[in-house]
Amino acid sequence: MPMTSAGMQKTLANPELQLAVYTATGRLMDKRKAAVDSELLPEYQELRTHANALKQHTVDNLDWYLEEFERNVEAHGGKVIWCETGAEVANFVLELAKKRDLKLIVKSKSMTTEEIDFNEHVEQHGLEAVETDLGEYILQLAAQKPYHIVAPALHMTRYEVADVFTAKLGVERETVPEKQTMIARRVLREKFLAADIGITGANFLIADSGAIVLVENEGNARLSSSAPKIHIAVAGIEKLIPRAQDLGVFLRLLGRSATGQHLTSYTSFLAGPRRAGEADGPEEFYVVLLDNGRTKLLDKPERRQSLFCIRCGACLNHCPVYRKIGGHNYPWIYSGPIGAIITPQFHGTAKDPWLPFASSLCGACGEVCPVKIDIPKLLLDLRSDVVESRGNTVERLAFRMWAAVMANPALYRTAGDFASMTGTSERKWKDSSSMLAVGPVKAWLSQRDLPGPAPKTFRQLWKERAK
Ligand code: SF4
Repeated sequence: MPMTSAGMQKTLANPELQLAVYTATGRLMDKRKAAVDSELLPEYQELRTHANALKQHTVDNLDWYLEEFERNVEAHGGKVIWCETGAEVANFVLELAKKRDLKLIVKSKSMTTEEIDFNEHVEQHGLEAVETDLGEYILQLAAQKPYHIVAPALHMTRYEVADVFTAKLGVERETVPEKQTMIARRVLREKFLAADIGITGANFLIADSGAIVLVENEGNARLSSSAPKIHIAVAGIEKLIPRAQDLGVFLRLLGRSATGQHLTSYTSFLAGPRRAGEADGPEEFYVVLLDNGRTKLLDKPERRQSLFCIRCGACLNHCPVYRKIGGHNYPWIYSGPIGAIITPQFHGTAKDPWLPFASSLCGACGEVCPVKIDIPKLLLDLRSDVVESRGNTVERLAFRMWAAVMANPALYRTAGDFASMTGTSERKWKDSSSMLAVGPVKAWLSQRDLPGPAPKTFRQLWKERAK
């Protein structure tokens, strides 16, 4: 998908959508800023450094911690399933459902299952998978993918939600958000009670206790993991942290960075199925550990930091590109700066070579990342991969010419004199710049202004001043 795709043009030309995304991300930015305020949380920067060091250590010793995690899950009566691809995850669930004759799955929000198109896979084989996070449920009814990794339906207005509910659920048009929530709640309660399997993601996997940690605000992950007979948590292998005591660092950062909450409403620690004497909980507990390209990132030590992400969404909210083009114009489920660094590494830079360039390199993403991923540096590295793989591109030629001019004083002076001649009048500059507007330059200029050169160069002004 080139950066000038029709979808992108449509997003840019839609003032309601622009306002919705700008307002929602702006609100999240303000909340985060207040929550990490140095008076309230003076140790914020130390927490970030600590989180970064913990993630670095875990990713560098991933094999060791994965095995420790598996041993501890099994010690609590659970089972770990290792999957290399999304198809393997779907096959595991399908086989389990077939063996036990199960049909209905309730799901809580999970980017990992979105990443592998889990619902589409299992629905092709006759299973029903129902999203129970309110935003995800709305999107499932609307047949859309998440727009944002934390707030999936951030782009939709309550009027659009009302239309979706009326069309898909046959209810009267209701535009009050609280009442819309009640409509969804009534439908979803029935699904929770009837469900055979509950599928969740996992925000963290704790190696030393074999527990998974779920962080949420709606309570639907608790219901998904405890009401059905079987609970399956699907998580990327990078979600590991070594010890339960490390969790304090991440929980303090995650809520604040994502929604500005000091702690999210529900934090669940789940280890194994229901034990004798316990009132509720599943009879079977599985943790599916997914690779799906993650181990490829281990090859280059300096790029491993891409696996540190705790999916807080702060980099999206602060990214001027995401805020303009929105979440659906990225080629994969991961949008914004985190999408721009992990998608090319998972899928190869040849697939969407424009992606690492979808950044102004303003540095805001790196500044707000709670685990201190150096996103701008990774974007630059990926850009250089793209340029390397392309051979002699127009861009490379342009930079060579630019370097030749900059290295030669006479040439530099002549180029400056020529540019100032084109800039002597607005009309003249418009004529000259319209001649440049062909091919990729035309696309570039369609979204940007190219200010004219100053009528006089610095050297000319200096000469005049010296007279
Ligand atoms: S890269 Fe950092 S800021 Fe972006 S979602 Fe991941 S943890 Fe949050």
